[in-house]
Amino acid sequence: MRIVAEARLEGEVPLWVHPEWAERFPWLVQGTTGSGFHLGLFGDQPVGAALQRWRALRCVTGMNATVHARQVHGADLAVQSLDGLGGMLVLEGVDGHLTNRSGLLLTVSVADCVPVSLVDPVRRAGALVHAGWRGTAAGIVGRALEGLGEEYGSRPADLWLHAGPAICGGCYEVGPEVHAALRPHLAPPDAPTPVDVPAVIAEQAVNAGVPDERVSVSAHCTRCGPGTFFSHRAGSPGRQMGVLGVR
Ligand SMILES: [Zn+2]
Repeated sequence: MRIVAEARLEGEVPLWVHPEWAERFPWLVQGTTGSGFHLGLFGDQPVGAALQRWRALRCVTGMNATVHARQVHGADLAVQSLDGLGGMLVLEGVDGHLTNRSGLLLTVSVADCVPVSLVDPVRRAGALVHAGWRGTAAGIVGRALEGLGEEYGSRPADLWLHAGPAICGGCYEVGPEVHAALRPHLAPPDAPTPVDVPAVIAEQAVNAGVPDERVSVSAHCTRCGPGTFFSHRAGSPGRQMGVLGVR
């Protein structure tokens, strides 16, 4: 596992991208939006303001359509295969998406939870998941790996994984029950202790066969960083989007 700092693309839309992936995979759109660009659809902000930002995000990434869902901290993913879709698709009750279709921008809403991108450059397919501790404990990363295999024939050895900006292992203090759920093979602590969810995700991926050197986690913490990203635990109602798509 490696630590990688996303870099902000120039322009009005704050989009932070994995610099090595941007160079290695020119056919891919991947990144996470930043603070000052609240994209949440299910909170209190007027929907019109949010939709204007969604349009700007679609334009800046050059995609035809955005795909989003109301997330439920579960482990279900949806395969996105609509050709020629223009505009915005909002589903109910899934925490991850898979696609190999050009022009569809998959999105997951986060603010401390982990936006996890999985990419298969051999088959030009990918998955994007919202992984908080519940989804991670429920195995959503493994479900994404299985889904890529079933839908597109992807093998773990061909995949790359990046866990984007999220709350870091120093900031995320949780109770023993969360530790027990995330690392059932270890004895949990007996008092609230920080846990590193991105590191758990990286372990799960490597254990499932993704090459260690192709697994990276963000250097940015949503909570103790300089306000670059929204943080739920820091009291922000704002939401950023992890995004992934095939150009
Ligand atoms: Zn932190």
